[in-house]
Amino acid sequence: MDLELLSYGEAAEMIAREVARLREDAEASERSAEVNSNYSEWMALQDARGRILAQRILADRDQPAFARSTRDGYALRVGDLLPTGTTTTLPIAGSTRAGEAVAELPPGSSWEILTGATIPRGADAVVMQEHVEVSGERVCVNRALKAGENIVQQGAEARAGDLLLAPGTLMGAAELALAASCGYTKMRVRARPRVLILTTGDELVEPEIFPQAGQIRNSNATLLRGLAEEAGAEAIVLPSARDEDSALDDAIEAALKTAANFAGKAPVLLVIAGGVSVGRFDLVESALARRKARFHFTGVAIQPGKPVVFGEMPYSDADGDEGPLKFFGLPGNPVSAAVTFRLFVEPVISALAGSKAELPRFWPARIENAWVGKAGLTRFLPAVSESSAMGALDAPMVRLVAWQGSGDLAAFARSNCLVVIPAESSGIEAGEKVMVLLR
Ligand code: AMP
Ligand code: MG
Repeated sequence: MDLELLSYGEAAEMIAREVARLREDAEASERSAEVNSNYSEWMALQDARGRILAQRILADRDQPAFARSTRDGYALRVGDLLPTGTTTTLPIAGSTRAGEAVAELPPGSSWEILTGATIPRGADAVVMQEHVEVSGERVCVNRALKAGENIVQQGAEARAGDLLLAPGTLMGAAELALAASCGYTKMRVRARPRVLILTTGDELVEPEIFPQAGQIRNSNATLLRGLAEEAGAEAIVLPSARDEDSALDDAIEAALKTAANFAGKAPVLLVIAGGVSVGRFDLVESALARRKARFHFTGVAIQPGKPVVFGEMPYSDADGDEGPLKFFGLPGNPVSAAVTFRLFVEPVISALAGSKAELPRFWPARIENAWVGKAGLTRFLPAVSESSAMGALDAPMVRLVAWQGSGDLAAFARSNCLVVIPAESSGIEAGEKVMVLLR
C-alpha cells in the first residue's frame, strides 16, 4: 500500500482521467433507453436551481417571437427620411405598447412604440424618443437611421427548435429563466450524487458537547457536508468512528450498506476524514485494504493535504451487481480536508453529478506579500483577494493570510482563495504573478 507520493500534476491527471471515464459512462447511459440508467428525475422549474440538466431545452418558438423594439420611440421606414441635415416630419399614425398585437404602418408615417412592443409591419427602424421633437400628432426626425436600428428581429436570438441548453448544464438562475421563457415548467435533471461522510478520531465530540481535556469538536462533518452540498451533492453524515480496527470495519461496513441502498438511484461517493496519515492510530487505509480496496494514490506531494487517499472498493447490492464504491480518505486537519476536497473530491462529485464543468478552476493573480519556504511540495496557501485592491488590470491582487498551519480553521475562514506555490519554488516575491484556486 506504500505507493510513492504522486506529484500534484500526476494526481490531478489521475482525477481528470477518472472524470473522463465517468462522463463516458454517463453519455453511454444517456444514449441507452433504460429508465433510471442515467439517474435522472423530474424536477419542477422552481426546484431545479443547482441541478444538472438531463435533457435538452429547445426553443418552443422563435425568440423573440416577433420583431421587438429595444427602445421607447417611433417606428418608421428609413426610406421615408430626407437626406441627413434635413428634418423629416412624419404623422404619428398610431401606438403599440408591450403586449399588444402587431400593427400595420401606413405609408409615409410613423408609429409610437414602447420598449418590448411589436414593430408594426412595414417599419424597419425605431428612432429613440430622446432623439425627436414631437409636435401635436407629428414627429420631427433630424438624424440618420440605419435599417434595423433599435429592433431585434424575430428569431434573432433563437429559431423555433434550436437547442438552447444541452444535457450536463448546471441550472442557475439564467438557465432556469431561459427554460421558463420556453414554457418548461418541469425538466429532467440528474440525481444528486450521495456523498457519505465518515469522520474518524478518538478525540472527536459532536458540536453540542463541551469537550473534555484533549478532546475537540468534530468540525469536519460540517465542513465536508457544506463542501459536498456546494459541489451539488446530497451529503449523508455517518456516525463518527473511533480509531480502532473494529470500529472502522463496522463504519465502513455501514457505509457500504448505505451505498447499496442507493444502487440504481443515485451515484455514491464515500469521503472519510482523518486517520490517513502515518501515525500509529491512522488505521483507515488498512481498514479499507481489508475490504479489498484498490488505491489509485495514497499520498500527493502537496501542502496542506499530503496523506490524501483515493481508491475504490467492491461491494454488491441485493442483486449482487453493483459496481465499485469510489472513496477518498482526507487528512483530518480541517484546512487539509478542505483543500484536498477542492482539488480532488469536487471534480469527481461534479462528474458523478453529470456536470460538464472543468474543475478545479485556477485564475491568475499578483501576490501582495512575499513567501519564503522549502521547495518540494506544491502548496495551496490561504489568501484574500479583494476586488477593491485591483492593482494591475491583468490580474487581481491577493494577500497571503497569516496562519498556524493546516489546523487553523479560523485563518482559513478569513481567506477566500488559495495561492498555488509550484513545487519547485522556494520563494515568491511581492508583486509576482501566481495562480489562485478560488474557494
Ligand atoms: P488525523 O488526520 O486523523 O491525524 O488528524 C489530524 C488533525 O486533525 C488532528 O489534530 C485532529 O484532531 C484533527 N481532526 C481530525 N478529525 C477532525 C474532525 N472531524 N474535526 C476537526 N478536527 C479533526
Ligand atoms: Mg485521527
